[in-house]
Amino acid sequence: MSSSACAYLDHTTASSQEGQNGTPQTGNEQAPSSESQAAEGQGTGSPESRGEKAVNDCIFCKIIAGQIPSTVVFEDEDVFAFRDNNPQAPQHVLVVPKRHIEKLNDLTANDAPVVGKLLVAACRFAREHGMDAQGYRIVLNNGEGAGQSVWHIHAHLLSGRPFRWPPG
Ligand code: AMP
Repeated sequence: MSSSACAYLDHTTASSQEGQNGTPQTGNEQAPSSESQAAEGQGTGSPESRGEKAVNDCIFCKIIAGQIPSTVVFEDEDVFAFRDNNPQAPQHVLVVPKRHIEKLNDLTANDAPVVGKLLVAACRFAREHGMDAQGYRIVLNNGEGAGQSVWHIHAHLLSGRPFRWPPG
């Protein structure tokens, strides 16, 4: 699938589900702490507010827009995180950029800031939820051969059980 072949959404539906701080209210289990917001920049802001577009056949763009329900655990201006609906560990969170990027292989130097924010957000969430004591794993799959099934880059944050190496 090529992102250039995709039509675009408007986010009118999403904004109607947002609370005062722009965080979706449905299924939101944890608002970001003030420390988190300070670390990532104030406010949430939609991709559209920065002239970016969501892709209308992308399930994660729809989750970010609030068009598909999810259990949101974190959101800031650039990054959105929610519980995986088929968890592979007691804790399994997906951390995604709000901007649609199909796969890791498409990344360019221009994407370094958002990818950095994504990783920092995942590690901060792990730390704030005590995952560092037991250990956690962050996985990013690129391509079908590596197990990628949703074509919007995402980091799996997994914790709560032992992990083997090498991974399967
Ligand atoms: P990957 O196979 O690396 O592309 O990971 C995609 C992940 O998205 C899988 O772990 C799925 O369980 C998860 N997933 C797919 N649809 C949803 C959804 N609607 N809500 C939450 N997680 C989802």
